[in-house]
Amino acid sequence: SEQVLSVHNLKKYFKAGSGKVVKSVDGISFSIKKGETLGLVGESGSGKSTLGRTIVGLYESTDGKVIFEGKDISNLDRKAKREFNRKTQIIFQDPEASLNPRMKVGDIIAEGLDAYGLAKGKERKERIIKLLEKVGLNAEHAERFPHEFSGGQRQRIGIARALAVEPSFIVADEPISALDVSIQAQVINLLEDLQKDEGLTYLFIAHDLSMVKHISDRIGVMYLGKMMELGESDVLFQEPLHPYTKALLSAIPVTEPKLRGSKERILLGGDPPSPLNPPSGCPFRTRCPAAMDVCAKVEPEWKEVKKDHHVACHLYQ
Ligand code: SF4
Ligand code: MG
Repeated sequence: SEQVLSVHNLKKYFKAGSGKVVKSVDGISFSIKKGETLGLVGESGSGKSTLGRTIVGLYESTDGKVIFEGKDISNLDRKAKREFNRKTQIIFQDPEASLNPRMKVGDIIAEGLDAYGLAKGKERKERIIKLLEKVGLNAEHAERFPHEFSGGQRQRIGIARALAVEPSFIVADEPISALDVSIQAQVINLLEDLQKDEGLTYLFIAHDLSMVKHISDRIGVMYLGKMMELGESDVLFQEPLHPYTKALLSAIPVTEPKLRGSKERILLGGDPPSPLNPPSGCPFRTRCPAAMDVCAKVEPEWKEVKKDHHVACHLYQ
């Protein structure tokens, strides 16, 4: 099916103190098909949130391209940029922090409707009610304030707010990480139902593989601003190629044997290096059990080693 979005050698660098630069997103390329969910995992500091925010335009990219529905978003005129902003929405990790505590839930959900002038008066009210129902809440919730809701309900409000402007592409930035385990599956199910009903495409960000397994068609694994591996979800779980992906998979608790398979636990040495001072060559080499001499000298290329399965590692070049 058709591509909705692609990124080409995308970079987002931030200036840090003393003239240093943090390469939060450093040369990433991939595409997402219509109706697909691409899961994106990595430890904190891997750049996954920055990548999501740069794609939807919350951050201006340092270099590279984002193509959305066939158009380079850096060349859009004002009207087209506004349309891009409407069609690409983000759901945040912390519904607590992303909902204005002094606004009624109905007005929060209608923020986008108001900003884009999509509905007024009676129609606005009806749209709010429909959106509340769509996410498993009801009409009377519109008059209440965010603090009157549970964490899971607040995330539903955040989802309704994103849906209000009828987006086609949603970045879900760790939407379940802050929720109780018992609520996580409900929110995932809701996102899956909405995807079917509305024909949505998702970039679904999480910090661990078990969270993205079920919702993702494909999964990308990031480390220190770079993509290490990207492939179909089942393939990645059954035949991971990159040593980092293997380590992440082996760290899934044995209480989830189906996810973990029979893989031996691989313990990674040390913490991730500071993004201010990344290793030469392969960014993962300081923790990689398979590191070779070449890994310190040459950065591995991003290569498609099997159909739809990319990896950046000297073991496969
Ligand atoms: Fe390990 Fe070398 Fe592959 Fe990096 S390139 S993951 S250090 S084997
Ligand atoms: Mg994050």
